[in-house]
Amino acid sequence: MVQFESKTMTENLKHHEYGPSGLGLLERCTGSHSAQALAEDRDSEAAAEGRLLHSLVPYDTPIPETVSIDQEGLVDRCRQILATYMETGWSDIEYERRVTLRDTDGSEINFGTVDVLIRYPDHTVIIDWKFGRVIVPSAETNIQLANYAAAIMQELGQDRCIGVVYQPRSTEPPTEYVFSDAATIASNIKYLIQREKNQKLAGLYVYIPGDWCRGCRALSTCNAVRSELPNNSYGKHNPPIQPADTLAEFRRARLAERYGRSAIDEIKRAIVANQSHGLALVERPGNRKFKSVSETLDIATENVEYSQLVDAGAISISVRRLEDLLAKEWRKAGVSVEECKRIFREKFNDVLTRGESRYEIREIPDDESQ
Ligand code: SF4
Repeated sequence: MVQFESKTMTENLKHHEYGPSGLGLLERCTGSHSAQALAEDRDSEAAAEGRLLHSLVPYDTPIPETVSIDQEGLVDRCRQILATYMETGWSDIEYERRVTLRDTDGSEINFGTVDVLIRYPDHTVIIDWKFGRVIVPSAETNIQLANYAAAIMQELGQDRCIGVVYQPRSTEPPTEYVFSDAATIASNIKYLIQREKNQKLAGLYVYIPGDWCRGCRALSTCNAVRSELPNNSYGKHNPPIQPADTLAEFRRARLAERYGRSAIDEIKRAIVANQSHGLALVERPGNRKFKSVSETLDIATENVEYSQLVDAGAISISVRRLEDLLAKEWRKAGVSVEECKRIFREKFNDVLTRGESRYEIREIPDDESQ
């Protein structure tokens, strides 16, 4: 298991209050800015993995042993894309480059860090890597990329910047767009930030729920989402969940989750019955699996020891399926269900163990919760 570095202070300081990476959400839901300011800034495994993979893209960076083959593949794909943008004529390449967007009077509008900057005499190429699975806006409609491009064009006095977004986990090729009008981009971003500030000054918080909520740190406390009303909610944002409210909140969240799942199933049925609009069922390839365990083991043990396969968790046996299989055989001989279970436990007692514990929320009965 790869160990990821937790977010350091310097990491946090690198971000502007209205930084480029948050503008996409601000554009869609101005209330998200102050809502997120109230929410705890928790690090996540996905974010930590993203930081690690970003740091591995530069060609001269050795890939640590602990990085999985999948992750190494993602880095390789980024390096291949990088190569396609490093044709002849480039003069310099920088990684994790800080850029500042300025207003017409030279004052700072915001700043951020662009993943890759490649300089050519009359233009630059900037690349933004996205290691998540959620499809992000293409280069042409990507305000984060536009922000970086305008800042670079301002700094270098150039009027052309090729912006590229690449998601190595998706099957889609990178998208690119030639940005050219730094002044307009800067004034649009300034307007967007000022709009949020004006609303806050007026005590007006506008929440627009939608797919983008998945990227919002305030999702679990959001009034607009909580009230499950798919429309604008005006008014002050709810504080974090209070201890006394956790039970009621858990029941609501569980209901919403169950509602969500059953609604999705219902919609799937409607699509199949051609009773839907704007939706389609897209077939996705199933997970890879081996046709033959024994052949697979033969091939694998040509390269590694059997014990390595077990230690790495590369091979495992489904306890439930094996128990079912054996029980079916014993039942044919008239052995009772309970007896089958007892025999199974007895036979496999020395080799059976428990995996890592997992935790689920349970309601405490009233008489115990006082
Ligand atoms: S969860 Fe959605 S609606 Fe609520 S603040 Fe965040 S982006 Fe806005």
